[in-house]
Amino acid sequence: MSKAVMDHKCKSCGAELKFNPHGQNWKCDYCKSEFTKQEIDEYEASRGVEQLDSDASAVKVEKVDGIDEYVCNNCGARIVADEHTSATFCVYCKNTAIIKNKLVGEFNPTKVIPFYKTKDDAVAAFKGLKKGRPFMPKEFSDKKNIDEIRGIYIPFWLYDYQIGGTLEARATRVKSWTSGNTRYTKTDVYRCVRGGTMRFNKIPVDGSTRFNNDIMNSIEPFDYSKLVDFSHSYLSGFLAEKYDVDATQANNEAMMRAKNSTDDVLKKDIKGYSTVVRTSSSHNIAQAMNEYVLLPVYMLNIKYNNKMYTFAMNGQSGEIVGDIPIDKKKALMFFFGIFIGTIVILSLIWFIGGKM
Ligand SMILES: [Zn+2]
Ligand SMILES: [Zn+2]
Repeated sequence: MSKAVMDHKCKSCGAELKFNPHGQNWKCDYCKSEFTKQEIDEYEASRGVEQLDSDASAVKVEKVDGIDEYVCNNCGARIVADEHTSATFCVYCKNTAIIKNKLVGEFNPTKVIPFYKTKDDAVAAFKGLKKGRPFMPKEFSDKKNIDEIRGIYIPFWLYDYQIGGTLEARATRVKSWTSGNTRYTKTDVYRCVRGGTMRFNKIPVDGSTRFNNDIMNSIEPFDYSKLVDFSHSYLSGFLAEKYDVDATQANNEAMMRAKNSTDDVLKKDIKGYSTVVRTSSSHNIAQAMNEYVLLPVYMLNIKYNNKMYTFAMNGQSGEIVGDIPIDKKKALMFFFGIFIGTIVILSLIWFIGGKM
């Protein structure tokens, strides 16, 4: 069992380094020096700090210093953060009764897409979303609420398959004609067989049951070509959720999608018939590979009238989704104001008219 220190120290001044999304490097908040991953690794190797990330022994590490796990006792979310990034409330349900433990094992993503957008970018995007919404509840302009935007890595499974598929279908060709007073219909029935091999790369399956699928669909896609090997140093300043959809469950879902796509492609190849009905299909999964990756998302949940409203931003592309309700009281007051104003004007007109 090995131990490793998670925080990275500035080579110039010794202060703590944080991941810097705009520079894709690590930056010292104190002296503003910036370092690449390689520079940090070299510096730490020279200081004798054990490298946790780059070797396979990371899997065997049971206790990682400087990484905490927070468990929400309301919704069960399991959030991981380094010791400099506090999680004082649950990002999903806003519950403040969360239990903090030292992280123990089993948090071993293989790859990560780092954050390319900063929290300031996310705050600006949220403020942009609010523009032109005069009847927005005050909760959505409350600085304290907006400040709760968090950068969180959402767990995903990615699957690669090579599938050999065979599909059998019953197809018909219908012909009709009239001869004399008789109408003839001739139906030819065919048994069609198609086969082929298909490759699938990186079919994504959400590893978090809490992170809403519709929201994820709205902020996709992620550019998977920017995936890099996971290193705990990407956690600095961010939260990460632990998966609660395990590899087997995710694999079933991804494989189902791959098999259906294979069938669709094979069936589409049966052309020139009146009807085509699939009778059977079989699949031979020649190759399967999976990866546990983390994808960057900024998230803000605001509770209003007992409903949770979620704002989310793709931490890589900046794509946003959000729903801001109308404060009915505010809207009513506004129209009531217009109403009163109209009455006043009408009475004035009446008054002036009456005098004349
Ligand atoms: Zn420094
Ligand atoms: Zn919760």
